[in-house]
Amino acid sequence: MIISCPMMTSLYSVRMRASSHDQHLSGAERIVPVHAVAETTAALIERALSAPLGPPDKIHCNSEQIDPVTVQFAKLPDVHSYQVANVQEGRLAATQFLIEAGLSADCAALAVATLAEGAGPGGIVMRGAVLMDAVTGERLEHDPARGVRVSRMDILSTFRPDVEALLVAAGLGHHRVIEALVLSGKVLQAPGVVAELCWSDAPDYVTGYVAAPQCGYQRISQLKAAGDKRGGRVFFVDRSKVTVSALVDYLERQPVLFDAAGTIAPLKKWELEDA
Ligand code: AMP
Repeated sequence: MIISCPMMTSLYSVRMRASSHDQHLSGAERIVPVHAVAETTAALIERALSAPLGPPDKIHCNSEQIDPVTVQFAKLPDVHSYQVANVQEGRLAATQFLIEAGLSADCAALAVATLAEGAGPGGIVMRGAVLMDAVTGERLEHDPARGVRVSRMDILSTFRPDVEALLVAAGLGHHRVIEALVLSGKVLQAPGVVAELCWSDAPDYVTGYVAAPQCGYQRISQLKAAGDKRGGRVFFVDRSKVTVSALVDYLERQPVLFDAAGTIAPLKKWELEDA
């Protein structure tokens, strides 16, 4: 459940985007109180400069005040982690999780194939996510290269140390995991979203996930081969519950802060019968 909190004041959305020769290198964003804007901006710029793909030639950092009455508060999804033997098994697990979330087998397979082949025009990696009709598999995003960019979400700053400690204790303390969990948490709060599929475009990061409102955030240890530069996200939408424009507006503009954690289950070997 999401509850607006009218008491919070002076919040800013701080967003960083780094590129080199117009190729996206890294990005991150936070929602912080006004007194933390300068320090957060410095930390995000520092992160952009130390990105593994080399120093960017452009770093955009932008801070924007958020009206505190518009902020919605929510709980992070429960986290499950599954060990798979190889990419094939990982994609089978992802397909099964998507079917459990309510998608048809055809739609689930289409989404996996879309990310595997490169979801953008000509097989390029998109900057944002594919929006897919959960019934027909139709692509709904207006710009197939950009897709839909989820923005304006974070962990409540006073609660962040608790969440980080929980994730570190579970061996999930890398900022990549926390950020993906926060992004997915917002996606699962959005009206009409049935599920999300994700694996990274970073060649060395092969873990991905399927998330769904009733199943939580299900990490899968391998969803692509090491060295593969293709990756992306697919958000599945039930168009009987929301219009595309209302969903995109929510994903891009609605500020969401997480002030409670879900459960974190220990790593488990995935078996077909789990599905
Ligand atoms: P990452 O997990 O950061 O490697 O991102 C994997 C893919 O997810 C990217 O290639 C984009 O297609 C997509 N993506 C990254 N950030 C966002 C975002 N904020 N909103 C929607 N999609 C995103």
